[in-house]
Amino acid sequence: MLRIDGLNAAYGRIKVLWDLSLSVGSGEAVGLFGPNGAGKTTLVNCVIGFLKPISGKVLFQDKDITGMEPHEIVKLGIALVPQERELFPNMTVEENLRAGANYVPHARERMLEAFDLVFTLFPILKERLKQKVGTMSGGQQRMVAVARALMSFPKLLMLDEPSVGLQPSIVSELFSKLREIKNQGVSILLIEQNVKQGLKVVERGYVIENGRIVLEDSSTNLMNNEHIKKAYLGL
Ligand code: ATP
Repeated sequence: MLRIDGLNAAYGRIKVLWDLSLSVGSGEAVGLFGPNGAGKTTLVNCVIGFLKPISGKVLFQDKDITGMEPHEIVKLGIALVPQERELFPNMTVEENLRAGANYVPHARERMLEAFDLVFTLFPILKERLKQKVGTMSGGQQRMVAVARALMSFPKLLMLDEPSVGLQPSIVSELFSKLREIKNQGVSILLIEQNVKQGLKVVERGYVIENGRIVLEDSSTNLMNNEHIKKAYLGL
């Protein structure tokens, strides 16, 4: 589904990603874990086309998408839930959701179907359609952000630290929704600092530190890995 090969990226002269390789299989949920400033956001920015890498390749369904524009990449079936929620706070839930489908012709044509899909997953959004997003709780806004990404019928959903700032019960609720989304056949790349919760959602994970992948394994093995236990699980 997604394959990143030997990616190097920088902001001006400051190099941030070093020879980074990673893959997400069809229907698979994969985690990318690491501390603040490790390069996680930089990686998703390279995939979605916000940042052009210095070298290396990003392949999506065997197509080379390296350096393509974000709107073209979204049309191919990749959606990002960014770290900054980037919702329109003065617009209603409905308007925000419409915005998620508007730029993708095949999704715009299936807008009603898309609404049905997100209402099944997040019933509360149906009741709140006319509410301005800025007046909702942090957890509800995060649900809107995920729902908006789903409105484009993505094949791959990337989420950049969706748990940040949410209380634990809301994180559990959100992550159980991610499992449902995965069960519907959407591949997931979950970027997280919350390794404990994240490992419950994904089957496989990578650990990134200082712009390099330092560990790659199944969730079960990562959970029992000494470095993960000490550095990320506080054990
Ligand atoms: P966080 O959880 O804090 O977002 P991250 O793992 O996502 O961390 P990145 O945001 O990818 O890390 O940042 C990686 C490095 O690149 C950091 O040292 C950061 O200071 C630097 N960086 C990020 N964005 C820029 C930018 N626009 N210009 C210059 N340097 C940047």
